[in-house]
Amino acid sequence: MKVGIVGAGMVGSAAGYALALMGIASDIAFVDMNAALATAQAEDIAHAVPFVSATTVSAGAYDELTGAGVVILAAGVSQKPGETRLELLSRNAVVFRQVVGEVLRVAPDTILLVASNPVDIMTQIATRISGLPAQRVIGSGTILDTARFRSLLGRHLDISPQSVHAYVLGEHGDSEVLAWSNARAGSVGLLSFAEQVGRPLTEEIRAQIDDSVRNAAYKIIDGKGATYFGIGAGLANIVKAIIRDQKDVLSVSIATPEVAGVRDVALSLPRVVGAAGVIVDLFPQLDPQELAALRRSAALLKEQADSVAL
Ligand code: ADP
Repeated sequence: MKVGIVGAGMVGSAAGYALALMGIASDIAFVDMNAALATAQAEDIAHAVPFVSATTVSAGAYDELTGAGVVILAAGVSQKPGETRLELLSRNAVVFRQVVGEVLRVAPDTILLVASNPVDIMTQIATRISGLPAQRVIGSGTILDTARFRSLLGRHLDISPQSVHAYVLGEHGDSEVLAWSNARAGSVGLLSFAEQVGRPLTEEIRAQIDDSVRNAAYKIIDGKGATYFGIGAGLANIVKAIIRDQKDVLSVSIATPEVAGVRDVALSLPRVVGAAGVIVDLFPQLDPQELAALRRSAALLKEQADSVAL
């Protein structure tokens, strides 16, 4: 399957590189308003391909995306140090208005995978602009926050992150909700697992993990100006679930009819992802504090999305 990538900057190219290394797409096609950048990224990534896979990597105008089964939307203006994700909103909404129409002209049956920040609101905007069913406009959402949550829990418990089942819900950003109450390791409740292996999850350690997950992007941006490897791999992982119809349960963002009493809002929940896009939404059981936090996150996103004139 061909995968298109609009926006050959740091995130788009990292996603393309991760896809090439994973060898899951037949073709990867880049489009960017900076055509020379798109060509250079395609050629650079193509040089990695012979070591790992047989993917064709190209760049061009929008026609290059003809027949793409998934198109990653990574175009936009990047987050400046100190700038909140929500401040990026109006600048990136303008970019999407142009890009989404061009993509659907050449690939009307595609699944849109939104990476540009603020990702939940950009997902809502892309859904409205495209007119596609919400199941086919997927935002990367908290895919990375969830991976980081699992990784930190795994490190603390001294087990692999793949053996930790825990999700970050709501906004990809400041109001996100770490769902501690239903987290499990193996089939054992998290707190019980921690006691059994003699590594209790004290209030202090939980607060540290919460802070590390919530503020990870800010810390990386302080150090290197942008984040891209992690999200690139996260995007490639979502593409893999689609291409292989894996029906993975992933925390991704789509416009959802109702979440915690808030109607028509895009945010992350665990969702089953396969060839048709999002197949099922899952509503995990939360404790009252987590549910209230999810409601606040949903209300905040709804207000922001509604404030964008399209
Ligand atoms: P990030 O770190 O989010 O990847 P970058 O600034 O590195 O941010 O990349 C964003 C890319 O999106 C840039 O290469 C830019 O040229 C591209 N871009 C911006 N606006 C458009 C547009 N309207 N159409 C296509 N590409 C765009």
